[in-house]
Amino acid sequence: MLLDMSLVEPIKRTLNSKFKFRCHNDISCFTKCCSRTNILLTPYDILRMKNRLGISSGEFLKKYTYTHTDEKSSHPYAVLKVMDDNEGKCPFVTPEGCSIYEDRPTNCRYYPIGQGLMIRGSEKGPVNEEFYFFIRDPNCLGYQEDREWTIETWRIDQGADLYDEMNREWKEIQLRRDTPGQPKLDPKKQGMLYMVSYDIDGFRRFTFESKFPSLFDIDKEEVEKIKTDEIALMKFGFKYLKYILMLEETLKVKEEYKKKVV
Ligand code: SF4
Ligand code: SF4
Repeated sequence: MLLDMSLVEPIKRTLNSKFKFRCHNDISCFTKCCSRTNILLTPYDILRMKNRLGISSGEFLKKYTYTHTDEKSSHPYAVLKVMDDNEGKCPFVTPEGCSIYEDRPTNCRYYPIGQGLMIRGSEKGPVNEEFYFFIRDPNCLGYQEDREWTIETWRIDQGADLYDEMNREWKEIQLRRDTPGQPKLDPKKQGMLYMVSYDIDGFRRFTFESKFPSLFDIDKEEVEKIKTDEIALMKFGFKYLKYILMLEETLKVKEEYKKKVV
């Protein structure tokens, strides 16, 4: 989420941190949090939402998102568009609640918790450290309810643990690119990062309707798998991103193409 920082409690929390919260359809603020949002979407969010709606990732991106380019890293991010009405409602909110509830994005699952990821130095070298924080919107009355959670039990209850697992490698790519010394991306790489991250159907076409698979030494079983399994294709995409962003030698170019591939 592109957060309103004035609502963020400036204390780092862990999975064991406790809080009281309950969100239900009899609460007077019900669905108030589904307006004027700036929800950053992840690759797995889009995969689930476009399948829920029965449309292609390209159609989903065009209809429901806009692109926000981060000034520092030059990364393009897909953000959920709100409706062009006075309330700036999410296109999926209804008086009964979220119409895509089972496939709602990661940020909606975590709310009122926010997540952060940072690199910490250790004796064994840099390690990734996840942390959490509370979003204290005075309009959200769920904090006044009596149900007790830890952040861990909340994220499991909301199904956010699966989403984290699916997006972990992608988030690490963002984090590694965000470290000092990483060059800004040229428009071609920005386009590739955007397509691989969010447009899974476009990435499938790029992979199978071009010379792409013949350029790299990719295991035959992996090629077969990514033809039919979208999640495997998404994860293969993360591998490809690490390669093109020069973070890791995750793919090997075939000898005969070495001179041709840039
Ligand atoms: S309690 Fe908070 S999260 Fe639940 S509907 Fe109200 S504003 Fe939204
Ligand atoms: S996707 Fe669902 S939960 Fe998230 S803001 Fe929209 S209506 Fe609310």
